[in-house]
Amino acid sequence: MLDCVLGSPGFIPFLKGGSCLAQDNPAANQKDVDPRNPGKCGLALSSFSLEDGTVNIVLEAHNLAKDRPGFQSSLYPHPIVGAASKAVDGNCGGDWFKDGSCTHTGFEMEPWWYVDLGDQYAISAVVVKNRGDCCGERLQGAQIRVGDSVADHGKSSPLSGTITDTRLGSVSTLYCNWLKGRYVSIRIPGWAEFLHVCEVEVYGTKPEDTC
Ligand code: CA
Repeated sequence: MLDCVLGSPGFIPFLKGGSCLAQDNPAANQKDVDPRNPGKCGLALSSFSLEDGTVNIVLEAHNLAKDRPGFQSSLYPHPIVGAASKAVDGNCGGDWFKDGSCTHTGFEMEPWWYVDLGDQYAISAVVVKNRGDCCGERLQGAQIRVGDSVADHGKSSPLSGTITDTRLGSVSTLYCNWLKGRYVSIRIPGWAEFLHVCEVEVYGTKPEDTC
């Protein structure tokens, strides 16, 4: 039940700084994030409390993507390796050069990236951390899809959202309405571009537990 409410866009009044925001700005984890703007953080840490202080429950949502196998269409040739696994390594650092924790494909038509969650889940939200040092606009229009097949690397899976905030270091939270799937993919649709993301967090629950 708690996993369900954590992923509902209408029920996040006590959302606190998630892992991505906390790593970039440690102070952010010490105070509430504006609940009207949940895209500012991930969902890794939420806290519920009553004003009289008698109850204080801290919930840690499980990031289904962390350390799961990642795949991408190509690898940009560079001493800093932009492997697909960099998006699920738990490091949200957005400086491609300094942090070395972002993916990077070559420049190509419809580059893609996906993570294998290992089992089918009902997905409540996907959090995507954009690169912070340059080139954030390359993620404009990137499509997030959830499905059970990667025969076409997720291209025909149901669409859960499109990235529109491409400011440097932006964190986009896409609510997925409990789309079911084992694979979460990101694709630049219909044109040639580089694809790079610095972290992808996936939240959800087993389909049988869906609210
Ligand atoms: Ca990373």
